[in-house]
This record gives sequence, structure tokens and C-alpha cells, in this order.
Amino acid sequence: MEITDVTVHTVSLAEVEGKKADGTQDAAIVTVDTDEGITGIGEADSSPAVVDAIVSAPVSHDKSAGLRSVVMGRDPFDVEVLWNDMFDRSYFYGRKGAAITAMSAIDMACWDIMGKAMDKPLCKLIGGVHRNRVRAYASTLFPADPSDTETMRSRATAAREDGFTAVKFGWGGFGESHRTDRELLAAARDTLGPEFDIMVDAGMVWGGDVKRAVKEGRRLDEAYDLFWIEEPLYADNLAGYAKIGDAVPTRIVGGEEEYASYGFAEFIDRGNVDGVQPDVARSGGITHMNKIATLAQVAGIPLYPHGYSTDIIIAANLHLCAANENAPLLEYCVENSPLRWELVEEQFPVTADGYVEVPTDPGLGVTIDWETVERYRTSSPSSA
Ligand SMILES: [Mg+2]
Repeated sequence: MEITDVTVHTVSLAEVEGKKADGTQDAAIVTVDTDEGITGIGEADSSPAVVDAIVSAPVSHDKSAGLRSVVMGRDPFDVEVLWNDMFDRSYFYGRKGAAITAMSAIDMACWDIMGKAMDKPLCKLIGGVHRNRVRAYASTLFPADPSDTETMRSRATAAREDGFTAVKFGWGGFGESHRTDRELLAAARDTLGPEFDIMVDAGMVWGGDVKRAVKEGRRLDEAYDLFWIEEPLYADNLAGYAKIGDAVPTRIVGGEEEYASYGFAEFIDRGNVDGVQPDVARSGGITHMNKIATLAQVAGIPLYPHGYSTDIIIAANLHLCAANENAPLLEYCVENSPLRWELVEEQFPVTADGYVEVPTDPGLGVTIDWETVERYRTSSPSSA
């Protein structure tokens, strides 16, 4: 089988709120065509225009090539070889960040092609089915206005009414002051009761201030019994992560801004985190998610796959949670964007007891809804 084209489809809502940490406002969908008529689907969760440029760029020199030029004519079953070649040929502008993100989409699409060619769901290709449904947590934002405890209560209520048994609040107005953080979490705990799991995504709000992160983390965990505190610091601050991990009893997790097995090996080892959150559409696709899952397993910590975009990522993460024993939780973004809910034909509903079924159709198990893509398309698709 040979890859005959790589196409980037960029979509966006008409209005993007620039200061809102909401990844469902745009998307970069990547399709990989083959000479056998099978098309694979992937997504890159980054700036869609940047992803498009990384895929489409002409060759500058040996270590600076657009990714399409690297994979054209190659066998999509050679995922490891393709991953390494894309990494090598983009090394000059790549290594971390958007280049790995664009590689992630092509890698996902190759795995989707393999599953379709073999008529097997992706999870069967990467280990099997430890679980055929995955406990999901509702993932939402703190209100932008940190005094808006009513919105906090309504988001907490919605999570419980939708069937979830856990909810994560992130970004938004969190971190403005200790008083408002307490009021927001008090509203959530009061609404949800003592049994419901509550996660806080600090969204790097404490910057490089490790002492403040430790102090706030301890106080909030003691008062509101948090399931985890996510991304208290930048992913580069490994010494800071290790200090917080030692000083705060709740789980300290992160990694959605870290890349590939190399990055996660250090993040786990030196950062001493209690769980890792690679994003399949950023951190290296299925190929490196598998490696990161193994690193986490060896370190004795869970893999908590990150995802805050479309159902393509939801589907990929369901397969990863099925195939990896140490991946017990699915992030389930509840943003109200049509790009979150209408980009693929399949739906992944939450059961009354808070679980989502693993897809059983071949490959990722998703079908692009091209009407939605055309409605939100921002430019002509770039292809060979
Ligand atoms: Mg996060």
C-alpha cells in the first residue's frame, strides 16, 4: 500500500474568543489517501494554519522538509519508520511543539488506515481490550469571571445530570486570588457532594512560582478534596513539579504541552508526576502514545489521555484507554461548539453511570461529516 496524498482541512468558528482556553473553536483535520482507496483520518490540535504549513512546506534541506514530502509514496503500515523519518526530516524546525503535533495527525491517520485494511478496531492493533467502556470525566472551564459562582454551580450540575461521576474545571478565572478560587471550588463541592471526583486544571496559572503553587495546592486540596491538580507549572519546570509532588498530597499531573517519548521520559523521571496527560493529537500520535503509556506503566503511574477538541480525539483516546491497563479515565470535553459535536457522524454518548463505549468499527471508528467541514472551512484544503 502507498500513501498518495496528505490533505489538511482547516475549520474554525466564525468568532474565536482569543483569551478563552477553548480548543473547540477551530481544528486541523488531516486525511491520508492510499492507492488502495482507503483514507485515514487524523487530527492535529494546534494552530490549524501552522499545521497546514508544516505539512505543505517544500523541502528546504535534509533536516527541514514539509511532512507531506516525507510520507508521499510510502507504506502507511510502516508507522515507526514514518514517525522516525518525519522526526528526522523536520528536526531543524521541529523536535517539540507544532511539528510533532502535525506528525501526530499523520500517524493517527496511518493507524486508522491499518485498522480499516485489517477490518479491526484500532484497540485490537495496539494491545486489545482491557475495558470495553471507559469511565469519563466531564471537562469544562472555570467561569471567566472568578466571582461567578452561579456559572460554577450550573456547570457542576450539568456534569452530574449528564451522568458523569467526575468533573474537571480548568483555566478561565482560576488563580485570580485565593479567595475567589476557594469560592469557586466551594460552589462545586457544595453542588456535587462529597463523593463526586473534582479535578482542578490550573492551566499553568502559577507560572514559575513554585512556593505559591505548593501553598495554594495544599490549601485547596485540604478544603475540597481534589482528585488531581493539573499543570500547576510550565511543563519545562521539572524541578518545580518534583517539589510540588513532594509537598502536596493530591495527585499532580500534566503533560498536554509535552512531546514524544523523549519528553515524557524526563517529565516522569525528573518531574516525579503522579500521572501523565499526553494528547494523541499533539504528543506524537498513536505511535508515541503507546510508548508514553509504557513509560508510565514502568513508573507505576496512570496515563490520563488529554483531549479538548473533536470526537476524533475522543475515539482515539477510547482505543488507547481500552488497550492500556493503566489508562482508566477518558477526558470528555463538554464545550458547546459544533466542531466538538458535529464533525464526525458517530456519537459517543455518556451512559447513566458515567462511562463511554469503546468504538468497534474498523480503525478509529469515525466518519467525517463533510457538511460540517464545509460549513466551517477556512481555506481550500491543501493537498499534493
Ligand atoms: Mg489541561
